[in-house]
Amino acid sequence: MGSHLPLADARAVVLEQAAPLDTETVALADALGRAIAQPVDAPHSLPPFDNSAMDGFALRAADTAGAADGAPVTLRLAGESRAGTPEEAELQPGEAMKISTGAALPAGADAIVRVEWTTRPDEEHVAIDRELTVGNDVRPAGDDVNAGDRVLESGMTIGPGELAMLASVGAAEISCTRRPRVAIVTTGDELVAPGGTLGHGQIFDSNSAMLAALAVTGGADVISVTAAVADDAATTDDAIAKALSEADVLIVCGGVSVGEHDHVKPALEKAGVSQVFWQVAMRPGHPTCFGLRENPGARTTLIFGLPGNPVSAYATFHMFARPALMQLGGRSPFPPSVKARLASELKKPAGHTQVLRCRMSRDEQGWLATPTSRNQRSHAISSVVGVQGLALLPEDATLLPEGEIVTVELMPDGTLESL
Ligand code: AMP
Ligand code: MG
Repeated sequence: MGSHLPLADARAVVLEQAAPLDTETVALADALGRAIAQPVDAPHSLPPFDNSAMDGFALRAADTAGAADGAPVTLRLAGESRAGTPEEAELQPGEAMKISTGAALPAGADAIVRVEWTTRPDEEHVAIDRELTVGNDVRPAGDDVNAGDRVLESGMTIGPGELAMLASVGAAEISCTRRPRVAIVTTGDELVAPGGTLGHGQIFDSNSAMLAALAVTGGADVISVTAAVADDAATTDDAIAKALSEADVLIVCGGVSVGEHDHVKPALEKAGVSQVFWQVAMRPGHPTCFGLRENPGARTTLIFGLPGNPVSAYATFHMFARPALMQLGGRSPFPPSVKARLASELKKPAGHTQVLRCRMSRDEQGWLATPTSRNQRSHAISSVVGVQGLALLPEDATLLPEGEIVTVELMPDGTLESL
């Protein structure tokens, strides 16, 4: 494909290759963040039995007829229904039974009087000074969910609330889409692992940590991080061949250009990767490549070659790798997007979409997108700190005045909590 592949087209090409992976059974405790692969139907009602919404007394509403302030009715106490220990005897006319919140309604009872509405003339009796209606403070069986109701749809992401529902219907194991297995390779002779000592001309490897974290937040299982591979052909060939072996997705970062010391593209070719596109009309991140490796009898591996500049790697991961990982994992590929006003004027050349890292805020006019850093160049790591949204500045735009409305893809990982 040509070197002026529009960003939206490149994303569509990637997603075409990212059909959801197979499914696997996952224990409830490991299911957070996974996509449900099969809809879940309730095997029983929720609540499963009529029960009390209050601590108080179970009774027959008819027995409170005529009760009023100053003229209470008095019922004889007979038994107690506790949460987990129901009263098995049937409530008779003129009787009340002690009951706790969540305890089963005794047979014969049809209402609850909360303890605050009662007095106790003696140990054996309870007095009620108002009339109750049938069903007062009763939580009927099935009032939330009926047996057979669909409680979770396939494709839903399991969060804390979904875990509660799964547990409530007694599910200990859930059919989920498998997490994509991701291998990460970073390249560059100049890279030193954090914790080491920098010599002149060296920098710390920031992409390995960033990409692994991005992959995890995209729902992936990071199976390997091969950091700081030396810029020579044989080492690169070897690292890429190894990383490819078990992965659903390979992310190679740095060395993907066509400089004398860029060995990634030839290494991918030698490993049997066919290039789908190379270079996208976006900034940062123009020299991005996407390829596929057919694996006889197994799924095709997706390969992303991302530019080494940290901001380019960040932007291209969000534009391509993250949507692919999400969709492979059975989830919807894109984060929510909003229309927002730009907080300041921006100039850009025409011919590429600019991915602007922003902080997001809201006022009476709606969303406002403020660039994270005045320096938006592709090496400026300060621009990926505190990002809450990525504004996509259209390809043909050259001058975006303050207040211009742009589309912003919100960060999916909870950085909007403060809004
Ligand atoms: P490359 O894509 O290999 O030409 O690298 C482009 C720029 O990104 C250079 O300034 C590299 O030093 C820098 N870079 C490449 N890989 C990393 C990395 N893992 N961490 C931080 N910076 C990197
Ligand atoms: Mg390099």
